[in-house]
Amino acid sequence: MLIGAHVSPAGGLWKSVERGVDLGAESIQIFNQSPRMWKPTAYGEEDFAKFHEALAASPIRAVLIHAVYLVNCASDDPEIREKSLASLTHSLRVGDAIGATGVVLHPGSAKTGHVGEAIARAGEVIAEALASSERCALHLEDTAGAGGTLGRSFEELAALIDAAGGSERLGMCLDSCHLLASGYDIRTVEGLDATLKQCDREVGLSRLHSIHLNDSLSTLGSNRDRHAPPGKGELGLAGLAVFLSEPRFDDLPVVMETGSDNNAIAAKDMALAHELRERGQKERAG
Ligand SMILES: [Zn+2]
Ligand SMILES: [Zn+2]
Repeated sequence: MLIGAHVSPAGGLWKSVERGVDLGAESIQIFNQSPRMWKPTAYGEEDFAKFHEALAASPIRAVLIHAVYLVNCASDDPEIREKSLASLTHSLRVGDAIGATGVVLHPGSAKTGHVGEAIARAGEVIAEALASSERCALHLEDTAGAGGTLGRSFEELAALIDAAGGSERLGMCLDSCHLLASGYDIRTVEGLDATLKQCDREVGLSRLHSIHLNDSLSTLGSNRDRHAPPGKGELGLAGLAVFLSEPRFDDLPVVMETGSDNNAIAAKDMALAHELRERGQKERAG
């Protein structure tokens, strides 16, 4: 398991590696541009070279890129879809250039419209973005299910992957907070096992390529996406220990997005995750 953190690339892409190393991360996630603006950051060969150099000299073994929040591949507004396509394609190309494990994408929102049609629209945009980039994987993230957001269930993730053409580059990212908020009770070994079996039946665990580790301020099935610092939410330390000791996550990057330092991740949060993983493993061993 590559326990890591979402970090900022402010001051240069390679700075994100430095920030990850300072936290004790084994994986990092970055935004490839300001997450609340459409304008892409134009990176050049020199930025990529510096990034590769920093990464090679670090213990970080996986890099995820989080697509911009504005992206809504499912929008019924053609202009938003066009902008979403451009932004997602850019993220995938940056992913190609830095050798990212994948781009993580919130699949989109149907708003108040028809879900099936929204899934079809999202699939079309996603397929086009894949066709316009080389090899970087795309991880569709499960969502808390607020409003019309797509990806609230494994069934929806499977439908999205299907609609996007089922390419081998399509994978998924599961977020512990979103799972709980969308109604999957993952707080016990048995509950998590049942959830993953369902995920395997509907999507296939071979598509599971990354994990977000967040505690949840919102209760089971509340459909509200509100992250809590580790141990301060509905998952709690015990729930996080179960999640972190899950053997089916052993080979994956597990990235924390919300920490205890005013929601930013601190070195002690990384240390806590390692402790909880050990605690969970001991409990599983009985
Ligand atoms: Zn997430
Ligand atoms: Zn979230």
